[in-house]
Amino acid sequence: MRLFEGTEFDRPPHCEVCGELEEECICPPPEKVWLAPEKQTARIAVEKRKKGKQVTVVRGLSPDESDLPALLTQLKSQCGAGGTLKEDEIEIQGDQADRVRDVLCEIGYCIK
Ligand SMILES: [Zn+2]
Repeated sequence: MRLFEGTEFDRPPHCEVCGELEEECICPPPEKVWLAPEKQTARIAVEKRKKGKQVTVVRGLSPDESDLPALLTQLKSQCGAGGTLKEDEIEIQGDQADRVRDVLCEIGYCIK
């Protein structure tokens, strides 16, 4: 029995793209491999926007290393607030620093 048999990791031995054996295949990996959260450091800041609105900003996470849209979705739902993604910054409406910190910690990110 193979290690991951019966799981989503149990891929066929031939590459689906080029048809070569996976061992000989030189295609790029089909799915993006994210950097482990433990190796990334997020910076959280609460800033004021126009009309005195407060936003919680998460910086320091690269869109090439983290699935930022997914992270935004998770933060919005756990904070119960709206938010947007601006290139490599996540903005959550309101002062959510404590909640955002908890969520990021739980995922495994280092927090500065
Ligand atoms: Zn291939």
